[in-house]
Order: sequence, then C-alpha cells, then structure tokens
Amino acid sequence: MTVGVDQSRRNFFRGKRPSEKSALRLPWLKSQQSLYDNCTQCTECISACETQIIKKGDGGFPQIDFSLGECTFCQKCVAACHEDVFSDDLSQAPWHIETTVKSSCLAQNQIMCQSCQDSCDTQAISFQYLKSSVPQMRINQDDCTGCGACVSVCPQAAIEIKLLDTSTITIGD
Ligand code: SF4
Ligand code: SF4
Ligand code: SF4
Repeated sequence: MTVGVDQSRRNFFRGKRPSEKSALRLPWLKSQQSLYDNCTQCTECISACETQIIKKGDGGFPQIDFSLGECTFCQKCVAACHEDVFSDDLSQAPWHIETTVKSSCLAQNQIMCQSCQDSCDTQAISFQYLKSSVPQMRINQDDCTGCGACVSVCPQAAIEIKLLDTSTITIGD
C-alpha cells in the first residue's frame, strides 16, 4: 500500500515561509528550494550536529550560524534527516558559497591582525605584504570549503559566507 503525503499536515509543521534567500541553511542540500518544500522543521539535524552550529533560523527552517563554531562536514545532519532534503551524492561539494571580508576588517583599517589565517585548515587565507600598509588578507575561493572556522575567530565579525546564485529560489507563497 502506498502511503500518500498529507500536504496540509506538512504545511502545518513547515510554519511560515522564510524571507531571507541567501541564508546558509545546511550542507549537501539537494537545493535550497528542496529544504523549503520538504523540511518539516523536526529539528533532528539541529540535535545531531556535532559542533552545534545549526539553529532554527528565518521561517523556522534550520540555518547554519558560524558565530557558534565551524562545520566539520561530519554529515550527521544528513544522516538524521528523514525527508527529501539532502543530495544523494555526498561526494559533491557541500555548498556553493562565497567567502568575503567586510571593511571592518582590522587589517583594512591598518591594525595588525591575522587571526583568521591560523584558523583556516586549507590555507585559503593568506596575507599580502605591502609597502606602507599592514599585511592585507586575501581569500582564495578555490581553496575555501566554507567550513566557517574563520568567522567566529574574527574580532570584528568581518567575514561573511554567502550562498552563490539564489536566483532560482522561490519563497513566500
Ligand atoms: S556536517 Fe556535521 S558539523 Fe556540519 S552542519 Fe552537518 S552535522 Fe553540523
Ligand atoms: S532533519 Fe530534515 S526535516 Fe528535520 S529539520 Fe532538519 S532538514 Fe528539516
Ligand atoms: S571558511 Fe574558507 S577561508 Fe574560512 S577557514 Fe574555512 S576554508 Fe578557510
């Protein structure tokens, strides 16, 4: 016997639609849209996360908060989920992101700081030595995994990790 999905029940658990397209939700999502369409907001992924960086975010959907720590790519959130939310191919990149630094970065304001560099296991962060300036931070996007380890160590909270291409996401029914 095939058991159908009770859409009204699913909608009840789903809560209100999110308003923020670029929020970083979870690694290895089939798509951001699949989360909005199929997540029941059961919070199993939140409980499973070994670094406790997943919280209930905008619209009640799970959301990564790198101010709490980094993603170790343990995949426990994927294993905990019973809905059609995550990709079947976990060998692919966990997300398509861009890591940027805001103008509040201490180095950009001529104050010596290299806190982020030490936190980056893949050495995606480097510092360029210039005449008449303290060394300036550079991020090599090709080497950046989006682990978020650099975010919480920045004394200025100047590092941001954002989803690339949110153009196909539909929110707000
Ligand atoms: S992969 Fe692991 S550390 Fe990263 S969000 Fe999922 S459970 Fe948390
Ligand atoms: S475990 Fe799956 S269904 Fe439950 S909140 Fe996380 S993503 Fe949504
Ligand atoms: S998010 Fe990117 S730049 Fe930051 S620590 Fe992780 S790999 Fe390095």
